[in-house]
Amino acid sequence: MREDDPTAEATELLQDLIRNECVNDGTVESGGESRSVDLLNGYLAGSGLDVERYEPQPGRASLVARIEGSDPKAPSLLLMGHTDVVPVNPDGWSREPFGAELVDGFVWGRGAVDMLNETATMAVAFRRLADSGFKPKGTLSYLAVADEEALGTWGARWLVDNERDAVYADYVITESGGFQLETPEGPRLPVMTDEKGTYWSKITVPGTPGHGSQPFRTDNAIVTAAEVVRRIAEYRPPTVVGETWRRFVEGMQYPAELRDGLLKVDELREFCHTLPLGLSRMVYSCTHTTFAPTVIHGGTKTNVIPDKCELQVDIRTLPDQTAAEVDAMLRDALGDLADNVHIESNDDPPTASPTDTPLWECLERVSGKLVKDSALVPFMMVGGTDNRYFRRAGSVGYGFGLFSKRIGFEDYATMFHGNDERVDQESLTMTTQLWEAVAHDLLG
Ligand SMILES: [Zn+2]
Repeated sequence: MREDDPTAEATELLQDLIRNECVNDGTVESGGESRSVDLLNGYLAGSGLDVERYEPQPGRASLVARIEGSDPKAPSLLLMGHTDVVPVNPDGWSREPFGAELVDGFVWGRGAVDMLNETATMAVAFRRLADSGFKPKGTLSYLAVADEEALGTWGARWLVDNERDAVYADYVITESGGFQLETPEGPRLPVMTDEKGTYWSKITVPGTPGHGSQPFRTDNAIVTAAEVVRRIAEYRPPTVVGETWRRFVEGMQYPAELRDGLLKVDELREFCHTLPLGLSRMVYSCTHTTFAPTVIHGGTKTNVIPDKCELQVDIRTLPDQTAAEVDAMLRDALGDLADNVHIESNDDPPTASPTDTPLWECLERVSGKLVKDSALVPFMMVGGTDNRYFRRAGSVGYGFGLFSKRIGFEDYATMFHGNDERVDQESLTMTTQLWEAVAHDLLG
């Protein structure tokens, strides 16, 4: 007999997931998510659940558990949590990053908020639903997925492409959102309805080789590349106040001055300079296409004028932007240098789900009971999540969860891929309750 203590179960499972150290550095040999699939398989065993394992590459396993619905026409729900985490530099941590210590009600470790907290609580809720004899009309699935931190190549993307029937659902919930933003009328809980696209570009800048002792009037690829970088950094993309941003700002009940500053297209860029640093970055990214030069390679030897320099630019696109539009912006930024360089880009377009859906209404009802006086606000992920593969396949996909007041937005934002990642047990309890209540409310 298992004792009925969801908080203890979620804490223990989260600690075990952290200790599995499924670090994904982008190489196919990294991750090792099969360790956590073994763990979750063991945890869910004995509940009479239908559990499947998919391992497209050795070590890169994902697990699907399912409670079959009685009505094939009823809408289905997938709770999806990734099991991999990003690398750490332990120097910046005050505790062991993979020690999973429990201190003053906080579990410390890489993945505590991104997103092993949800992966663990989803499993606990799933097991509790199964143990209680939950018989939904629509099918409920749980996916513990590999490789989210490196584009889902061996995880969500692979599963949607190759095992669609095993993972597809009408409604999908995954990271992130649900941190409490205080307003005069009660907390607002962001739901990630939109996700920016990526348009990663490699710019190859040519030059003419020569001797480093005679640089006068040479065609030096690094010098030209420096000018390309300068122009990209100086480029001012247009400000876009989209529907999701407007609804978020209005939902936050900000004082008039702040609200206007955040919504006026002509003034928003200047207004960003007056905001605290972390907030200004977020506001800017939600309202602009962003261009960040992130990698540069050039030259071979100190005494050789380089004939080639390669730049990589991380471009993030706004909803509805096409590849052609973004390419035109990049060329506009480069000006007369655009024709002298070679540009190679990979377009991974933005995705979004509407808010007038039964899942939105369900989350509003359920979280309203768990967080007093709360209401939902739509928000845009400026990074990418596995939701994009499901939205493209036809699902309504949201990023959501719940956090107690012990974790504010600033904490959350700095811990994401940052140092001293940790989550409190009250948040784990709330999130477990959320998943159980959503399953009952939505699937009946
Ligand atoms: Zn994540």
